[in-house]
Amino acid sequence: MRRALAAVSGATLLALPGCTVGVRRAAPKPSRPTTPPPEVVVPACRTTYTPPDPKRPAIRLTFDVDAAHAHVTGTEHVTFTPDKPVTEVVFRLWPNGPGPAKNGGRIDVTRASLPTRYESLGAPKDRPGTLVALTLPAASPAGKAITVDLDFTVTLPRSDVDRWGHTSRTAWWASAHPLLAWVRGTGWATDPAVGLLGETATSEVARYDVTVTAPAADTVVGNGVTDAPVDAGGGRRRWHFANDRARDVAVAVGPFSLRRSDVGGVPLVVAVSDELATGADAETVFGPVTELTTDSMLRHARRFGPFPFPSLTMVALKAVGGAGVEYPGLVMVGTRNYPGVVPHELGHQWFYGLVGDDQGRDPWLDEAFATYAEALFNADEDRYLGALDSPGRVGDPMTYWTKHGRDYSRVVYAKGAAALLTARAAAGDGPFDKLLRCYVNEHAYAVATPADIAAALAPAPQSLAILREAGALR
Ligand SMILES: [Zn+2]
Repeated sequence: MRRALAAVSGATLLALPGCTVGVRRAAPKPSRPTTPPPEVVVPACRTTYTPPDPKRPAIRLTFDVDAAHAHVTGTEHVTFTPDKPVTEVVFRLWPNGPGPAKNGGRIDVTRASLPTRYESLGAPKDRPGTLVALTLPAASPAGKAITVDLDFTVTLPRSDVDRWGHTSRTAWWASAHPLLAWVRGTGWATDPAVGLLGETATSEVARYDVTVTAPAADTVVGNGVTDAPVDAGGGRRRWHFANDRARDVAVAVGPFSLRRSDVGGVPLVVAVSDELATGADAETVFGPVTELTTDSMLRHARRFGPFPFPSLTMVALKAVGGAGVEYPGLVMVGTRNYPGVVPHELGHQWFYGLVGDDQGRDPWLDEAFATYAEALFNADEDRYLGALDSPGRVGDPMTYWTKHGRDYSRVVYAKGAAALLTARAAAGDGPFDKLLRCYVNEHAYAVATPADIAAALAPAPQSLAILREAGALR
């Protein structure tokens, strides 16, 4: 997401909630090495994205939103083929984390097809835990498909700057279903939830099929193109969308005005909540969001590779304020800061959406890279370079940042972006861009680690040294 920053030497950073970093312009600082970069030989590598694993999970979800927009009743049907032996199937219940819980949010598994076991992992005492494991009757070998079913209810938190919330007319949620927590090649992701506003979820790419039933007056958008709604009876309509390569699901329900376009063959929907603006006022949102999204999609694609999802939905919600929240194929924006928020969140379509990461353990692998993408898009690298010499280790996990919240954005976002920008200058822009493209292609639709970016940048030892000095690489 794009979120708050604290003060940093050489740069005063504007506090903003949410995923997006707001930064006042830093004092001028030398931004480029004065010596010419050494010769960097870019090795042969993949020229296209590694396709999603054909054995990735297939997950069918239904969500039923009540008339008050405060509660969602859901079902989940999962077919999962692990690449290692397993004795249980682990899901994360992120709405039970301390952030949503303090605003009244929670998720309860009301029925499961196997016996359940809970772990707190950061949940407040009055919540059932942020992890539920379904215990298999016997160990299941690698490569064997497992099918499980869950029913659940979600109480949406009060409206706040976050990925979930509700008003009397609008409901929005993401990472709000029991989230299968497998990482191919590694195993279960068990990072604790933290109180800091930011992501800790880790999940692999899955084939999602999502049905949402809502009051008939509402419009539903999600991280896939919705089919035309059908009458569900009782004054309700049913909507459906699919995304065959998403790590997670994001949905918004309410009084939305929509604007549709096509960006290089990718359907783009911009949804503006009537609670934010209507009529002519809505144009002040549609205009900049559509233009910045279109430009970001095209320019990020030229730099990092083709837009990685079948569609993109931009949802403008009043509650999100000056922040932004990213999901694969859907971005939530608020009321302002679009020139920074939109290219940052669109950067996440490649870094987190396409090249996934353990957002609890390695938040810099998506936040520093999204800020880097934003800085290159806006050609304002100097805005961040001042943070490079400030204290803090870019590669620290969310369990560290939750105790050092004032430093989180300055170090992970700004210093992380500064380290990447400086590493790019050290290698030469062209070779660095090619090495980064190799990293993206190699780890597309998977979950990458700091060791993976270190391996990709091995031909540029000066760049690696800069990232190590910044504490990005262990
Ligand atoms: Zn972000």
